[in-house]
Amino acid sequence: MALGLRNANKPKLVNCPICGAPVRQMPKHPEAELFRCSGCSHAFSRPGSIVEPETYGNSYYEEQHRRWFETPNVELFVRVAERIGKGASVIDVGCGRGDFLRFIQKIRPDLQLTGIDLSGTAHGDGIRFIRGDILSTEINERFDAVVSLAVIEHIPDVKGFIRRLRALTKPGGVVVAMTLNDSSLLYALARAGRHLDVPLAFDRLYSKHHLHHFTRKSLRTIFLHAGFAVISDFDHDAPIQAMDLPVKSRAADAVLRVGLRIVWKAAKVIRRGYLQTIICTAPG
Ligand SMILES: [Zn+2]
Repeated sequence: MALGLRNANKPKLVNCPICGAPVRQMPKHPEAELFRCSGCSHAFSRPGSIVEPETYGNSYYEEQHRRWFETPNVELFVRVAERIGKGASVIDVGCGRGDFLRFIQKIRPDLQLTGIDLSGTAHGDGIRFIRGDILSTEINERFDAVVSLAVIEHIPDVKGFIRRLRALTKPGGVVVAMTLNDSSLLYALARAGRHLDVPLAFDRLYSKHHLHHFTRKSLRTIFLHAGFAVISDFDHDAPIQAMDLPVKSRAADAVLRVGLRIVWKAAKVIRRGYLQTIICTAPG
């Protein structure tokens, strides 16, 4: 499938979707025009520069990102569960196949669980699943805890998404959001590789698949601007076996996974893991 850029030679002026500050263009990418904010350091694809945006049908889960969805991040799920009060109502916004909800149901049977996702691939007894657009589907209730894992980076209207999270949260309730970490060692190595004309990792990480690349600073900024109080934010890994790598041969896959293992170890030491999670409370 051919991918190209609309008006590739004439980048349009844009401002940061998080803080409104001026942005500068990042190195060229084959699928999107990338920018970085001079204020909050957020990186993002210019809306409209992607000719064939990602679609989220069943093949998204079952083929393109099979490994990711076959390898739930159990360590993170446990950490999130610890932040949710007894008997709480919980909604997972962008629940995918419902992996988080099914896991938390086992270790926290006291919780009332709801999930919403566009794909309709979720399943699980005793969990309410809503199929619909996470930004616009009518949900006439508020929850004690709103969880959203690896979703915000896919949403074009990122501020609208944060408003939606707030609208779904009871006053004083908890919001947990996990996303990629543009401040991570892996991202830094990918950018360095791009400068050295080895763009494999850069092209993969900044592909059209992810529209927003939050730094630690820009993730805090968007929640603070929306009136949330940040309780904690931390970086962490994804399981190595969950990584969908851009190579076909088994040998190349094995070599890259060894490389990732080394990067993960170094990232742990300098606290620059590939993923980040922020935990906030909604205004009372
Ligand atoms: Zn900004």
